[in-house]
Order: sequence, then structure tokens, then C-alpha cells
Amino acid sequence: MVADATVATVMTTYLDHAATTPPRPEARAALSSWLDAANASASHLAGQAARVAVEAARDEVATALGCSPHEVVFTSGGTEADNLAVKGVAWAARDRRRHVPHLVTTAVEHPAVLEPARWLAERGDVTLTVVPPARDGRVEVERVLAALRPETALVSVMAANNELGAVNDVPGLAAALTGRGVPLHTDAVQAVATLDVGDRWGVDAMALSAHKFGGPQGVGVAVLRRGLPVVPLAHGGGQDRGVRSGTFAVALDAACGAALTAAVADREGLRARLGVLSERLAAALTALEGVARSGPADPGWRLASHVHLLLDGVDADAVSLGLDAAGIVASGGAACGAGAAKASPVLEACGLEGTPLRLSLGWTSTGADVDRAIDVLTELIPRLRSGHGRGVAVADRGGRGVPTGPVPRPTSPAR
Ligand code: PLP
Repeated sequence: MVADATVATVMTTYLDHAATTPPRPEARAALSSWLDAANASASHLAGQAARVAVEAARDEVATALGCSPHEVVFTSGGTEADNLAVKGVAWAARDRRRHVPHLVTTAVEHPAVLEPARWLAERGDVTLTVVPPARDGRVEVERVLAALRPETALVSVMAANNELGAVNDVPGLAAALTGRGVPLHTDAVQAVATLDVGDRWGVDAMALSAHKFGGPQGVGVAVLRRGLPVVPLAHGGGQDRGVRSGTFAVALDAACGAALTAAVADREGLRARLGVLSERLAAALTALEGVARSGPADPGWRLASHVHLLLDGVDADAVSLGLDAAGIVASGGAACGAGAAKASPVLEACGLEGTPLRLSLGWTSTGADVDRAIDVLTELIPRLRSGHGRGVAVADRGGRGVPTGPVPRPTSPAR
């Protein structure tokens, strides 16, 4: 780990919004207003005031997603929301039926979906089908439908992939599943900042994470359709209609609601702005030798925020060191949660090879950020390919040189 002060001195151009997005001012204000909140389940006036704040935040989320407030459950983040949907729905199905339920998901899901799915299968709680993606990272609706069995109890397909930014036709899948009695869960963690999730796309369950749309880390939302049977993950005080026990996180929930409201109000403009910036970034970098953009070719099927590149003949660690030295914050290959570098299962599933580099934009991104990234990478990539990259100072536009050295460096998980 790098000490905070060190990060502060080099962190100049932030292009890792897919990993986490800085909190919006509305979220900061809500967070600080409610930090001293009483317990929202207490019956005294202070507790009631806190409860009003939680319910107001729930209303905000419901309005943003076009669902009922009764369908909104606050969680500790996207991971818990995904786990609640996958395990909760699977266990409820197992309890209702005589046979082992079948679960369908995809090879490009975030570990927050794939790991609970695999864990359930290993325990014998479900049988599992993992649908492969196309080379561009999208998962075809027909392939998902072809995986269905009479005992299928849940389909989980992500709305947009965190690495490639590939967008799936979740509303189309929801329509195709209508009337089949198979609930659909979608991980919309990466999607909600730039895509309209009106009428919650007709899905039965959805996972969101506040720190991907300008809220704080450590809070998220599970949207669970009314009447969807879900076994809770945690048993306790029975808060949130018994689905999610635990003292309400008043300040985090309020900040989540405020961030989502602000994000939705800003969404159309943001998508247009980021679309222009990301296309400019991708066009400049793919003009370099041995740099290719991955993900869907059609901008309609990729997030405006993501530029995913594959670099030929360039060492991943050297790219990371060079970017750090130049003060560009971006993610290389996906790594496991413990911080150790490993090949990306998403790229493997898509049959893609090369050194990955994900540049992801968000609400704070500017044209100057993009210009700077272009300048740095246009100099860095050819230099690394020619083998002169390690341990060499990288100068930014202003000529500031930051020495890089062969320091051992944990790769950021940056999901
Ligand atoms: N799903 C996707 C697609 C993500 O990108 C992430 C976070 O990177 C998560 C789930 C997990 O969300 P959280 O960090 O809130 O647990």
C-alpha cells in the first residue's frame, strides 16, 4: 500500500471512476448532516427524525429507478446487494421446491455474482449454468434463454461490464422472461451513472453501489420486486422488512439517496459529455501502434464512461508504474480482492489477449484530463515497447519528472 500523503502528491488525473467515483457535493452534504443521527429504529423524536431521513432516501432511490419504495433495501454496497439477490432468491426457491433449483449467470459477471453462484453450486444448493459472452463482452439474450431449464429459479445477467463497459440488453431479457416464472436479477452497479434505469428495466432484482454514482463507499441498494421470495443473509433486528437486519446506516443511506438523485438529474448531459471525451481518448490512443480498443464496436452497447484498451508487447507492471509516476490514476488488469495480480477472467472469457488498460471517466472528468492522459500515454506506450520504460523518469506536460523505481507494487483490484 502507498501512504496517503504519497498518493496525494502524485494523484493528478483521475481516470478510475469504474473503480470508485468521488462523492458528489450533494452526497457529502447529506453525509455530514446525518453523521450524528440517532438510531432510526428508536421511538424517541431523534430516532423518528433519523427514520424520516432513511425513508426520504428510500423514496429518492425509488423515484430514480421508477420502482416502489417498498422494493428498495439499503445494503453495505453492491457486493451485499448481489449476494442478497443470488443467495436469497436461490435459497427461497430451494425451500419452496422439492428439486435443486437451477441458476443461470454469465462468465463476465463481477465476482459479487459469480462467487456466490459458484459457492451455492459447490454446496449443492443449486445447479449452475455460466453462459459465455461474445468476444465484445456482451451476452446475447438468446444464449441466456437457451440455458433455461424447467427448474431454473434465477437468471442473473449484469447490465454493464465493469472492465469492458459492454452493455447488455437487460430490458430485452426481462421482456423475454416475462410469463416464464423465472426471476431476473441484474447487477446495475456500473450502469446507473450513465444509463436510464426507468421502471427498473422490468427486472425482479437489481444491485447498485453508491460509490459508483457519486455516493460514499460502503452503501448500496438491493431492489427486490414486491412479492419476490428472498431468504435474508443476516438475521437480527428485522429492519428493512426483515430482509436486511442491522441498524439503519442513516448518513450513508441519506448520502446514497442524494447522490442518486443528483446522478439521475445529471445523467443525460453526463452521458453525452463522457461519450465525446471517451471517443476522443480512444481515437488518440488507438492511433498508436499495437493499441486496440476492446468491448462493443457500437457505442450504443458500451458505457460512455469506459475506454478499455489492449496493449501489445508492453509489460503490465511497467504500464502501472509509468502511469503512477505520471500521476494518471487508471486500472490495468483486474486483480483479485487481496491485491495480487492475476489474469482477468472477463478477458479470458472473451478470448482477448494483451495488456489491459481501463481508463474510466465520470462526473468530475474534464477535457484537460483526457488531454493529459493522451499526452502521457502517447509518450509512455512506445517507450515501454522499445524496452526503455523501467526506472525512468516520466515527465508530464509541464516537464515535471517523477522518478520511477523497481518498487514492489500491489496491483489495484479496481473492479
Ligand atoms: N458489481 C460490479 C459490476 C462492480 O463493478 C462492483 C464494484 O466494483 C461491485 C459489484 C461491488 O460493489 P461494492 O464495491 O459496492 O461492493
